Amino acid sequence: MSPQPVHPTSACARGWRKVVTLLKQWWDTDHEADALVTAREDRFDLRRSIPYIFLHLGCLLVLWVGWSPVAVGVAVFLYAVRMFAVTAFYHRYFSHRAFRTSRFMQFVFAVLGNTSMQRGPLWWAATHRHHHQHSDEEEDKHSPVQSGFWWAHFGWLTSASNFPTDYSKINDLTKFPELMFLNRRCMVVPLVYGAFLWAIGASLAQWAPSLGVNGAQLFVWGFFVSTVVLLHGTLLVNSLAHTFGKRRFDTGDDSRNSLFIALVTLGEGWHNNHHRYAGSARQGFYWWEIDVSYYLLRVLAWMGLIWDLRPVPQRVYEEVKAR
Ligand SMILES: [Zn+2]
Ligand SMILES: [Zn+2]
Repeated sequence: MSPQPVHPTSACARGWRKVVTLLKQWWDTDHEADALVTAREDRFDLRRSIPYIFLHLGCLLVLWVGWSPVAVGVAVFLYAVRMFAVTAFYHRYFSHRAFRTSRFMQFVFAVLGNTSMQRGPLWWAATHRHHHQHSDEEEDKHSPVQSGFWWAHFGWLTSASNFPTDYSKINDLTKFPELMFLNRRCMVVPLVYGAFLWAIGASLAQWAPSLGVNGAQLFVWGFFVSTVVLLHGTLLVNSLAHTFGKRRFDTGDDSRNSLFIALVTLGEGWHNNHHRYAGSARQGFYWWEIDVSYYLLRVLAWMGLIWDLRPVPQRVYEEVKAR
């Protein structure tokens, strides 16, 4: 049998295939994800940065659309709502199961968290569980101790090696097809969210012109500006909360407690507390440690929308007293 002729693949064809693969992965994050795992490379990847570059450049459009109290107010409000969705649900619920809720509520907050452009809830939870298993060790995907501040803050997010979802870490969540959908099609919700903001702004321009807001302006402030500030606020927990602040517990990593980060992130700044006992619904372990997400969770619990908030065990408080 004669050998098959080998057709050399041109650089152009290889480049085109890479573009097509990239586009398919934006539509379906599981597309050829295994290939990325085997080609593990912990390095900044410009192609994976495109959505984030797009987000940051979009903020410059404020020079074109201007501002209005309504647009800025909506951006601040959406920052707070979505920070709560990320910290209370992506983090405390999906990653740590710190309380229980209905399937409907978990979907609602998964959608809200998805608008933050921080990927789907399953990728977020799997990545975060990995962080707790290997905090500040060599395997940690975003340790400032191992890889420096900027890698921990942003570089890791662009690395091809961190793109696939490690489903083996989230067996408890993969049984929900609606969460799987959000995870694989994680660009759908942000697109709908942006279009919704534009439509609301355009409606206000028509029906309440005295507000001085329009579709483009609400889109730029609510989508670009609010989402970029939200992204960096969240990323501070990976970078700054492992380098800046005080340590109450000897957790074996470099996690720290910081009021500043707690205020920016609605409570996630008590990161050393959190690394000591990650299963608790509260991260401010004492009344003076401001934890807005926990206060809001208490309100949701009072309304009957969530339940079984896991407390900080007494033995953890005893450790502090024993010093
Ligand atoms: Zn941490
Ligand atoms: Zn955590």
